[in-house]
Amino acid sequence: MELLDAYAKVAGREVVEHLHQLSEPLKGMKVVHVNSTREGGGVAELLRKIVPMMEALGLDVKWEVIQGTNRFFQCTKGFHNSLQGKTVVLPESAIEEYERINGENAEQLRDTLREADFVFIHDPQPAALIRYIEDRKGKWIWRCHIDCSRPYRPVWKYLKGIVAGYDASIFSLAEFAQPLPHPQYIIAPSIDPLSEKNMDLPQEEIDHVFDEFNLKRELPLILQVSRFDRFKDPLGVIQAFREARKMVPLQLVLAGGGATDDPEGDIVLEEVRRAANGDPDIHILVLPPDAHRTINALQRAADIVLQKSIKEGFGLTVSEAMWKGKPVIGGDTGGIRLQVIDHYTGFRVKTPEGAALRIRYLLHAEEKRLEMGERARRFVKENFLVTRHLREYLALMIALFHGLKDRIDLNSPDESS
Ligand code: UDP
Repeated sequence: MELLDAYAKVAGREVVEHLHQLSEPLKGMKVVHVNSTREGGGVAELLRKIVPMMEALGLDVKWEVIQGTNRFFQCTKGFHNSLQGKTVVLPESAIEEYERINGENAEQLRDTLREADFVFIHDPQPAALIRYIEDRKGKWIWRCHIDCSRPYRPVWKYLKGIVAGYDASIFSLAEFAQPLPHPQYIIAPSIDPLSEKNMDLPQEEIDHVFDEFNLKRELPLILQVSRFDRFKDPLGVIQAFREARKMVPLQLVLAGGGATDDPEGDIVLEEVRRAANGDPDIHILVLPPDAHRTINALQRAADIVLQKSIKEGFGLTVSEAMWKGKPVIGGDTGGIRLQVIDHYTGFRVKTPEGAALRIRYLLHAEEKRLEMGERARRFVKENFLVTRHLREYLALMIALFHGLKDRIDLNSPDESS
């Protein structure tokens, strides 16, 4: 089946029709996406879908990956951390390496980048390519996937000097946008409804998680999927579970990844185990990184999904659960606010007590729970599927291609008035 037909089935035929219409004036145009890894991480995951979809719409798309050294990636990891607010002091030699590697990659990619009508540069790693391609033909867009609501200023100042050369930039949330001398677009992340994480599953596979993880079929199941990270507040989840269980029998699953390169992950996992204190109805699952179908099945098996984060960039787990028709009780923060519309697609909470109250309410009011879950699914369908993401990329390309004449800029005063 043609790729876009498959999306028409889940997202709606009119959504795919709209993509065809929007791509009409862009047909045959050369688009290049550049990032720094073909595998691993959300950016690669997204490009793996967006690139073939753009191709299926008749654009001439390339996905290029820059090559770097250890020292280069150490430097760009420093950029990443500092954009997320950490104080990182980068020595002059690290910046030199960053620029040198971008220069080398620019040599390799020169013809492709020079001729492209649109170049999407993802995150800081390849951002400096622009400095080495003087005779650019197309529009260059910097796509930032990082929470840079409060960047560490000295590092941002350096990066801003580079990013300012672009024709536009894209941030995931309005809070992440920065003063820059070009149009900024807000494009939220998305989930892929056809991936292993989100596709429909046979009922047996969903039921199987009860046996696999020794869960009780007769008890309501509360789930949180997240890395073992303090910002995800796993201890608050346990507290909320205990509070709610005083009134209604329950079981809790905290599913997270193994501690890979994150030294804090191990420490937090230990704290969580201590807090669970051997409770037979608290299940702490450490899953391998490719356990997408298992997570999918757990999200479908759950009665209520929690994402009680204290800080959250976007929180893909929220849309993942909502797509499966689950109301989400989410921390009142960051990207969760975009997804959980309080009392409508779920509940937003500030404390474990608040979460416990909502758990009890939703378990008592089954009809409301199902209704909310249904609205949650519809809300994701309308707002957070990859098709919407693609539509916004296409709209942005059209806007940039035609210049700013027909755009209403909410930031600048109307010159005619
Ligand atoms: N995830 C996973 N295994 C885990 C924990 C999380 O596959 O053990 C997935 C989860 O389903 C989601 C992503 O990793 O797709 C986490 O994204 P999110 O935006 O929720 O949080 P982040 O980890 O980026 O802070």
